[in-house]
Amino acid sequence: MKKIIIIGGGIAGLATAFRIQSEINEGSNLECILLEGTDHFGGKISTEKSDGFVIERGPDSFISQKPAAIQLCKRLGLEDRLTGTNPGAPSTFVYTGGKLVTMPDGLSLMIPTKFLPFAMTPLFSLPGKIRMAFDLLIPKKLDNSDESLASFVRRRMGEEALSKMAEPMLAGIYASDPEKMSISSTFPMFVETEKKYRSLILGMLARKKAMLMNSSKRPTNPYSLFMTLKDGLGEMVDASIKKSPNIQFKSGAKVSYIGKQKEGWNVKLDDGWESQADALVVATPGSVTAKLLQNIAPDTAELLNSIHYVSTATITLGFKKEGFSHSLDGFGFVVPKTEGRSILACTWTSSKFPHRAPKGYVMLRCYVGGALQEDIAEKDPKTLENLVRKDLHQIMGITETPIFCKVFKNHKSNVQYHVDHSAKIDAIMEDLNNFPGLFLAGSAYRGIGIPDCIQNGTLAAESALKFLNGKSPQLV
Ligand SMILES: Cc1cc2nc3c(=O)[nH]c(=O)nc-3n(C[C@H](O)[C@H](O)[C@H](O)COP(=O)(O)OP(=O)(O)OC[C@H]3O[C@@H](n4cnc5c(N)ncnc54)[C@H](O)[C@@H]3O)c2cc1C
Repeated sequence: MKKIIIIGGGIAGLATAFRIQSEINEGSNLECILLEGTDHFGGKISTEKSDGFVIERGPDSFISQKPAAIQLCKRLGLEDRLTGTNPGAPSTFVYTGGKLVTMPDGLSLMIPTKFLPFAMTPLFSLPGKIRMAFDLLIPKKLDNSDESLASFVRRRMGEEALSKMAEPMLAGIYASDPEKMSISSTFPMFVETEKKYRSLILGMLARKKAMLMNSSKRPTNPYSLFMTLKDGLGEMVDASIKKSPNIQFKSGAKVSYIGKQKEGWNVKLDDGWESQADALVVATPGSVTAKLLQNIAPDTAELLNSIHYVSTATITLGFKKEGFSHSLDGFGFVVPKTEGRSILACTWTSSKFPHRAPKGYVMLRCYVGGALQEDIAEKDPKTLENLVRKDLHQIMGITETPIFCKVFKNHKSNVQYHVDHSAKIDAIMEDLNNFPGLFLAGSAYRGIGIPDCIQNGTLAAESALKFLNGKSPQLV
């Protein structure tokens, strides 16, 4: 009998387990245990349902352009549970100069692809627009070195594009400081576009044209850019466990020690329980993985320790729809740091995903903290509620008392990909070659999004299975 132990029951660990499950059939000599330190499987993914409201504590959707999450949902039998964003309310707003201003139509991430809406938008000043158009003329960067998002955007499109779009929209997704975050690890498509087309605007227009030309040949994409599940992302977590009947899922199983043995690995829990494994997949946050590997692989541990995490908090508020003072006609808004507000972004959840609030109610979700305002995320729940309600009053004119306000604090939860992150990960993976049978998965490495974590969890499972097969060809 061969054994794989997975440490960490977030989406990366669960995807690892589900992939291993597909190789365990009657008579196979493989067993697998997943050890989760808390009583909750899913890690950052956590859905709460209350009185018809579906409330996400952490992530609320995933991007459909990266296929791994949709593929997993299909394999788990959740295809008919997938749901997209409301096609009737796609505007996103930026809070600037005391007003909510619509993002101009045709903006692809931050690159203008339609002339008129861009020329007419009050979001940018005339000098700001002219500077953005300089992208058409500026030569491309010649070397392959990494740079920060801020340096990249400033170089190609100027300061205003950075402060009004890239900082709140792009750095906001990562809750990061744009001056520190790596462009090549977070938005590699911008780097590729510059390399291939020199200009981001010309590159986006060329891609749009190619997509239009191919659209008649390709079946239409049934998915919106952001997808979720009808009863929340927790459905994916529950189904991953249910559809992996041969995996032993152990909760409340906090791993405190990993030891290398002559053959395989020794894993110990806080409570003294221990087990041996032929292969190990460690799918915990980077800082935890660093501690667990300190004695075995100190070089990897040191590199892992240099990956930073910042704190954020989500504050979800429900209101009665009748008499609610805002039309909520859109997906929500983002706030540039220069506006000096507590809210980083606010999703009008009941407009973006209408099934998340029962009939007759609306729901908003505010995001605070991150690298630029981490102290805010560390405040107590009552203070957070007051700060957010003050901002909602001043930004959206909301004076009503919410019927509920749920504050979820994500202490040191958001991983930061700083400049040269990918070189660091290459070094970690190279060092791991010295430890056959040890595999890493999760958001610390090559992508923070749910599809990235599912993909690298699945790859970690495949590497572990291959490794065991090498030792024992009849295994699976
Ligand atoms: C607030 C927030 C909002 C986000 N929004 C989105 C979004 O909308 N869309 C999107 O795609 N991504 C989003 N992300 C990112 C995404 O949710 C995460 O990157 C992803 O869920 C991480 O999964 P993971 O399995 O790598 O790690 P985790 O979810 O952190 O799982 C790690 C698991 O390891 C366990 N563990 C830790 N220590 C031990 C130990 N010693 N022994 C055993 N178990 C241990 C933990 O309890 C946890 O369950 C968001 C993240 C945050 C924090």
